Amino acid sequence: MKETAADSVKSNCPELTMDNFINGMKRRNPGETEFHQAVEEAMTYLIPYVQLHPKYQKAQILERLTEPDRIVIFRVCWQDDLGSFRTNRGYRVQFNNSIGPYKGGLRFHPTVNLSILKFLGFEQIFKNSLTTLPMGAGKGGSNFNPKGKSDDEVMRFCQAFMTELSKHIGENVDVPAGDIGVGAREISYMFGQYKRLINEFTGTLTGKGLEFGGSKIRKEATGFGCIYFMQEMLKHRTDGLEGKRCIVSGSGNVAQYAALKLIQLGAKVIAISDSSGFVHDPEGLDEEKLNFIIELKTVKRGRISEFANHYQLKFYENQKPWKIACDLAFPCATQNELDEADAKELIKNGCTGIAEGANMPTTLGAIKEFQNAKLLFSPGKASNAGGVGVSGLEMTQNSIRLSWSSEELEQRLKEIMTNIHQQCIQYGSEKDYVDYVKGANIAGFVKVADAMLAYGVL
Ligand code: GLU
Repeated sequence: MKETAADSVKSNCPELTMDNFINGMKRRNPGETEFHQAVEEAMTYLIPYVQLHPKYQKAQILERLTEPDRIVIFRVCWQDDLGSFRTNRGYRVQFNNSIGPYKGGLRFHPTVNLSILKFLGFEQIFKNSLTTLPMGAGKGGSNFNPKGKSDDEVMRFCQAFMTELSKHIGENVDVPAGDIGVGAREISYMFGQYKRLINEFTGTLTGKGLEFGGSKIRKEATGFGCIYFMQEMLKHRTDGLEGKRCIVSGSGNVAQYAALKLIQLGAKVIAISDSSGFVHDPEGLDEEKLNFIIELKTVKRGRISEFANHYQLKFYENQKPWKIACDLAFPCATQNELDEADAKELIKNGCTGIAEGANMPTTLGAIKEFQNAKLLFSPGKASNAGGVGVSGLEMTQNSIRLSWSSEELEQRLKEIMTNIHQQCIQYGSEKDYVDYVKGANIAGFVKVADAMLAYGVL
């Protein structure tokens, strides 16, 4: 739609500048540092864009976009194996449902708080929009720590958590999934409890087991998608993955399948980590070693040092992997795991590309370093969107009561990632550089913002 003079802004609201906006947002959300960081990253690009497109400013779209639709906070009381009463806090941030039901994972980790869930929910708005599937944005979780708990304790916690959460979700309302600390085991316990409470078998929750409505390729999707995205970025520079030395941080679901796809495509995974340190394997992991890690992390729930010991590889306790010389880096562990000093080290050692597999693993200072050095850098909202993308496909399969083959799903996942890359090129191309952060933020924004404009004042 062409903008006219009537669209230009005359209002009682403060002038839209980066300082005014960020100061106001910080004042309204005191102490929520992760949320501030996520909003600041997006606003670096959205404010200049909105200044050029006053229709969004007139409708206060940026102010509305940074205010969640609603937040539910609740007590979760459960009993441990000794019969002691335990209390945790549960959350669901329903951020924006302009283009579909709220959609996003649940995180169980002792660090979970409102700031972290709001940053994650905010990121989800753009990410879900980029997939082109009809999904709004939400995020939730608890400060419950599954580490060191028995299966029975995890089950009792998940059932107690879902007893309250079930009142706020539904296949057309809000569809949660996994995230850190929430994998197949937790989703199964929660889905079972949801089904029992609602007395209905509907696809609410994605990442389900294949026996009860789950989708093939969902488990692999985030990691595979991240590597497909890197492949697209390299292709755009007439380069490829073959022979590249790669660092993958983390060893959870995202890292495992990012590493697998790298190996399958002929790259070399020379380091992998967990929160206790990293393992250096100069030869590169093969599928046998990777299977050992997958078994260690998903069945035995052990530490990565056990992998290092088993294969007599060097383990660097309490250190981050970024100081190892590499061609490509994939931060797949957690937020803010790669800071400015790490970025400088990676650049100095010859790294040329970084694709985020986790959500916001790179600090704002580190992103600046990568961009100033003109490296390939993709933000998680673009390169980790494959996970929620296949969740969207799980919802579709549940609605039509069919399940697609792995080949079909992998093909669709590839198309989703290629399409996101294309959107980034469209909105992020500069003279001699593609700013993927700019591209992902603006492309993700436009669809949601146009829907919000169409709805009028709400
Ligand atoms: N937690 C994942 C993410 O950060 C997946 C969410 C989903 O599948 O709904 O995107």
